[in-house]
Amino acid sequence: MYKAFLLRYSEIGIKGKNRYMFEDALKNQVKFALSKVEGSFNVSKEQGRIFVEAESEFDFDEVITALKRVFGVAAICPVVVIDDNAWDNLTVKVGDYVEKVYGNQEITFKVEARRGNKNYPIPSPEICAKMGEYLLDRFDNLKVDVHNPKVRVHVEIRTKAYVYSDVIKGAGGMPLGTNGKAMLLLSGGIDSPVAGYMIAKRGVRIDATYFHAPPYTSDRAKQKVVDLAKQVSLYAGPIDLHVVNFTDIQMYIYDKCPHDELTIIMRRYMMRIAQTLAEKNNCIGLITGESIGQVASQTMQSLVTTDAVCTMPVYRPVIGFDKQEIVEIAEKIGTFETSILPYEDCCTTFVAKHPVTKPSLKSIEKSELKLAEDIDRLVEEALKTVETIVIK
Ligand code: ATP
Ligand code: MG
Repeated sequence: MYKAFLLRYSEIGIKGKNRYMFEDALKNQVKFALSKVEGSFNVSKEQGRIFVEAESEFDFDEVITALKRVFGVAAICPVVVIDDNAWDNLTVKVGDYVEKVYGNQEITFKVEARRGNKNYPIPSPEICAKMGEYLLDRFDNLKVDVHNPKVRVHVEIRTKAYVYSDVIKGAGGMPLGTNGKAMLLLSGGIDSPVAGYMIAKRGVRIDATYFHAPPYTSDRAKQKVVDLAKQVSLYAGPIDLHVVNFTDIQMYIYDKCPHDELTIIMRRYMMRIAQTLAEKNNCIGLITGESIGQVASQTMQSLVTTDAVCTMPVYRPVIGFDKQEIVEIAEKIGTFETSILPYEDCCTTFVAKHPVTKPSLKSIEKSELKLAEDIDRLVEEALKTVETIVIK
């Protein structure tokens, strides 16, 4: 019965010029989400709402799933459109809607009206009262409860009228593209896809960088990261995924530096390279899936040493989360199953038995001096051979 959806968004902080940016970004992302489902849709802005109208057959559940992934949407309301909003027609059509949805269930209800078209002859409070009366007259199974009704029958009047009573919770957050772009360091693990999702939820577009170390990491490991990026891109897409060949840098560090400092030094080079790629791609921040104390390279002291090579802010949205809390989000956004596939990671291939857990910045910097001869050339080479995969 539904051929259209009204999307509500939170209006906090979107006054004046911001409003257009916010609404346009939201509209774009709704279109992107709907490009993933069967059917064609018209998406428009309507006085504080985004309006989606189907122009062909579609699968209701599939559309709801897609719309639930759009950041900035507070609620999704499947609506019935009433073309002729003249009062007598409106009451009958709203009545038909209530009959169709609730049949002869005993329910308490309340009418909520919103008049987008201020020329409409009846003001909102009166619409509520009169429509309530009409429904009570027509149906014996309805009772009014203005404080805690089971069903709120929303009637919105513009050029046309809309009736809905089902309000499905949306993703929340801010529309993608309203808050700049950041570079996600995306590994095949559980944490980094979640980190990317969380920052994107605040309206930040993301690019991603993956450090690949063939033949120590396989094509399957790379494919796993592509699959994770695809899943994250359902929310945050499209995403440009930059694949960096990290093998020579890793081998060189392995040859020259103390093995207990390997992971830290490797991570410092990852951050440096990701930052250069970020600058090239108009990103103004880095994102990682680090969480304090999770592993040796994520103690407070280790984070000091990785932060020291970054001039850009590093966002670590899961920094205070326990693993289980991160897992819950990974399950919710559909990345968990892929993340736990047992393919090798470039960090685990070269990991030391007893990595330092409290590295001092001085000692790490001193060890890195041993790389002086060749490291700049290797980094340059890695940057020159980046493969960018567009995920959309
Ligand atoms: P898990 O998600 O299983 O905890 P992890 O990869 O997140 O694994 P670490 O290896 O300590 O754990 O890495 C910390 C962070 O560094 C990651 O969240 C990710 O942002 C980044 N990172 C690690 N390895 C890579 C890689 N190969 N490519 C890109 N980023 C990486
Ligand atoms: Mg981790």
